[in-house]
Amino acid sequence: MNRREFLETVAAAAVVPALPALAAGQAQSPANDWGSPVFDLHHHLRPQAAANLAHLDGVGITKANLLTRGDVAERLKELEAAAPGRFIWFSSYDVAKPDAEQVLTQAAKAGAQGFGEMKYHVAADGPEYKRAYALAAELRVPILIHFQEVDHFPNEGTWATGYAKTFEGILKAYPKTTFIGHADAFWANVSADYKNETAYPSGPIKRGGLTDKWLGDYPNLFADMAANSGNNAMSRDPEFTRDFLKRHQNKLIFGSDCSCADGKGGGVSQNNNPAATRMSGKCVARETLTLLKASAPPALFQKIVWGNAHKLLRIPS
Ligand SMILES: [Zn+2]
Ligand SMILES: [Zn+2]
Repeated sequence: MNRREFLETVAAAAVVPALPALAAGQAQSPANDWGSPVFDLHHHLRPQAAANLAHLDGVGITKANLLTRGDVAERLKELEAAAPGRFIWFSSYDVAKPDAEQVLTQAAKAGAQGFGEMKYHVAADGPEYKRAYALAAELRVPILIHFQEVDHFPNEGTWATGYAKTFEGILKAYPKTTFIGHADAFWANVSADYKNETAYPSGPIKRGGLTDKWLGDYPNLFADMAANSGNNAMSRDPEFTRDFLKRHQNKLIFGSDCSCADGKGGGVSQNNNPAATRMSGKCVARETLTLLKASAPPALFQKIVWGNAHKLLRIPS
């Protein structure tokens, strides 16, 4: 999340009421319509505890991974008291800063179970990211990366650039690092005809795309299905989607990256990203869960929305 996204999230969260009257220990996992408990790998920590729970409960999400930045110890404590056992967390820090290794190491020691969301304006194969890949392997935590080559709005800039050209080299060079791919370039490259021409390409998938191939070839690559990017890729070609979900059923992890207020599309979804208007007024989590449920048999659906995350993060389910 960049500064603009953060401010918009704050604004969206401002309308959420105070925490529901739950004593510690009383929080219940919500019943849901999905036929499986749901783990959200990609939930950006919201400023108010109640705003986080409003999204989980609105969608029917059982547990979530909080993507955080900076010192969030107090906020994590507050959430754990309000909803015991429903959250784990990742931490991120600008890989280009000289103290990146020190800060990320500290976060992992404090309990962060991964690095993310790592979203920075440097090359995916540059020295800055390489330091983080090596550290993730050393500390045995996964690293979740936002890959984006096409601006959503003028002067946004690109993030972890060079995915299609260089990332296979990284997967080979860092076999002990667990990578979780996310965002526009990662998902657009499920199709073999993608050439960075648009953030969210549409139309049938040309088989043999890089992301599809690498998920099959490299045991250290996993996929975060969050955001418009994941939803868009899985909405293009139903036959491809059914096969893709089956083919990579142990590598795919549901996530939302949704900024809506209530888990039903209220407030602002996708942070007003002008390139993602197909999701405006909708809850991305809800849309993607609906799509996955319709595209995969129940056992496979349950792996993607629950089991895989627990295995990857070595947490009891
Ligand atoms: Zn992202
Ligand atoms: Zn939502």
